[in-house]
Amino acid sequence: MFKKIYKAIKKYDTIVIARHVGVDPDAMASQLSLKESILLTFPKKRVLAVGNGGAKFSYLGSLDKLEDVDFSNSLLIVLDTPDKRRVDSPEIDQFSYKIKVDHHPFVESFCDIELINDEKSSACQLILELLYKTKLKRNKSIIEKLYIGLISDTNRFLFNTDSELFTLVSKIVKEYQLDLPELYQKLYMRPLHEVKLQGYIEQNMKITDHGVGYVILSSDILNKFSADAGSAGNMVNNFNYIDEILVWLMISEDRKNEIIKINIRSRGPVINTVAEKYHGGGHKFASGARVTTFEEAELLVHDLDRVCASYIQKREGDEEK
Ligand code: AMP
Repeated sequence: MFKKIYKAIKKYDTIVIARHVGVDPDAMASQLSLKESILLTFPKKRVLAVGNGGAKFSYLGSLDKLEDVDFSNSLLIVLDTPDKRRVDSPEIDQFSYKIKVDHHPFVESFCDIELINDEKSSACQLILELLYKTKLKRNKSIIEKLYIGLISDTNRFLFNTDSELFTLVSKIVKEYQLDLPELYQKLYMRPLHEVKLQGYIEQNMKITDHGVGYVILSSDILNKFSADAGSAGNMVNNFNYIDEILVWLMISEDRKNEIIKINIRSRGPVINTVAEKYHGGGHKFASGARVTTFEEAELLVHDLDRVCASYIQKREGDEEK
């Protein structure tokens, strides 16, 4: 499969690299590092990394505008996105050939080549493997971006991390003499107002009977802390180890786009099946959803509470055996 992807990359002079809406560091780092590697290997090709919202991860680089592209003669590579509706590039059907590289559970097939492995930690891990298994070239800047994507999606090697990933990481850290504190700083530095918003979340989190922790962040609250729905959502990863909570979510209003964005995490109950009911999806223990009213968000919380109740009941049953 890696070789087939390399052959397609070699064949096309114009290549567009897209990823999911609601950009995150794994999606953007995989895009920009693949672009850099293709250009290093084939300097005459035109390669565009596209999508919205990249400014908040500008330490990774900048994105391109999708302009003057003859779609009928171009290759599209979609990274980190299991379904067509979430691809941040509306022209997707116009491309002559399409490749998908993804680590989410399978949702639908929409590309000519699909490299999907939901046991991998991140899209960046799959791109790293692509670079090591084909003639695509690497340099320190490419590997640094991929490392940032890896630490972001694994939450510093906490989730979806196995010995295979540690072996790969050990190899790149040694080969490229990565300055780890510098890379972590790029990803985790944040302004004081975000820390204050985190304090607000801690003070105002409600907990349901069966351990669903949630906080509603209206546009007014977010404005008060000079934050947006995206930065609030990123904080969902900071609430992993709270005794009373099994599943937790940030419910953030994005008034400009008239949606309510929901980020969900779990320490046991499977949540992506519930997220799918609310225009969402994702991984078993890390999902997202989008609703239009706070009432709908409360229904989602209620459904998650029921999932937690069955999880607790099963766990207690197993303990008694
Ligand atoms: P996030 O909370 O934004 O980090 O997302 C966690 C996981 O859920 C990622 O794999 C996302 O791609 C996925 N996800 C987030 N929002 C949605 C959505 N509206 N639909 C489908 N998947 C989503």
